Amino acid sequence: MATCKVCGKKGLFLKVNKKGECARCVDAKHLVKEQKLLNLIEVIEEEKKALEWGVAPWPYEELANLYHEMKDFRKEVAILERFAVRKYAPGQQAAQLLERLKKAK
Ligand SMILES: [Zn+2]
Repeated sequence: MATCKVCGKKGLFLKVNKKGECARCVDAKHLVKEQKLLNLIEVIEEEKKALEWGVAPWPYEELANLYHEMKDFRKEVAILERFAVRKYAPGQQAAQLLERLKKAK
């Protein structure tokens, strides 16, 4: 019988992932992470520094990875597009993200 490590729910038909978490707990964790990253991106985009130097790619990438994990490919493309229209600091990571957007579409 499976038991969720996070909420302690158990049952014959309860499915848990490799980390021992039930689907509801995984969803909840994803939502918390999504909100944190979205808040971070909002802050970054409003920063004066970002207007001059461009935004950092990593929060967009983290969020794209999260959406990918959630199999929400529409949101994955949307966040990559949001990055692509920004002024961003050039570099390998930025180039990889834009490449990924091309493939995801
Ligand atoms: Zn759970």
